[in-house]
Amino acid sequence: MNKGFSNINQNMRLVLIGPPGCGKGTAAKRISQTFNVEKISIGDLLREHITKKTGVGLKAKPYVDKGILVPDKIIIKIIETRIKRLEHQKKSWVIDGYPRSFEQARALERIAQPIAMLIDIGFEISKQRIILRRICPKCGAIYNLKTLKPRKDNLCDKCGVRLIQRKDDKLSRLKTRWRVYEQQTLQVVSQYDRFQRLIVIDGEQSIADMNKDIIKALKRSVRKVKNRKV
Ligand code: AMP
Repeated sequence: MNKGFSNINQNMRLVLIGPPGCGKGTAAKRISQTFNVEKISIGDLLREHITKKTGVGLKAKPYVDKGILVPDKIIIKIIETRIKRLEHQKKSWVIDGYPRSFEQARALERIAQPIAMLIDIGFEISKQRIILRRICPKCGAIYNLKTLKPRKDNLCDKCGVRLIQRKDDKLSRLKTRWRVYEQQTLQVVSQYDRFQRLIVIDGEQSIADMNKDIIKALKRSVRKVKNRKV
């Protein structure tokens, strides 16, 4: 852990929001490693349930395949259990992909009042990243056929398993996911803006530059929170 940020470690309650392909998964991983905070990825959790064919997985699959939101009741239940446990253990956390609806944001406010980070990109960049995205079905490693190619054609560098394209990464599904984002998730973003708890990051820059911006912004926001308390 970076010791200079130990105050962030104690305070962090952060939600990452953004359109498909904005890099929130990568950012969540980086933030969690840098500041030693717990990471929850709701998309990964759902895909795990779907692979294992659990009750939640069977209910969620048709929604995830279509690129629309899984009903709030199911999502809120999964996430609340985890957040409440972390709150009880006084652990800091970062969540990737939640809240995405007004109802989810309201449910979360009842437990904690996080800072939201919007990682912003436009549709064209999203399309370029998502259409060429391939994942390893075994370890979850993410590749891009143009910018992050596997060493051997279509095989995972770590597992040697054949890479797949997520069903919801096809163009028609991507368009649906964007509609959902614009119609439902942007309302949540506006709400965090009104609460003055919104950080906006340019997600179209390189990963290295984006990470630098994220760390700078988190340092600033912690200072702001500390000043308010004085
Ligand atoms: P992601 O991996 O974050 O792109 O999420 C993939 C899919 O999981 C979404 O298109 C939704 O079907 C579902 N999903 C992820 N997060 C949520 C959420 N907060 N609420 C409802 N559905 C979600």
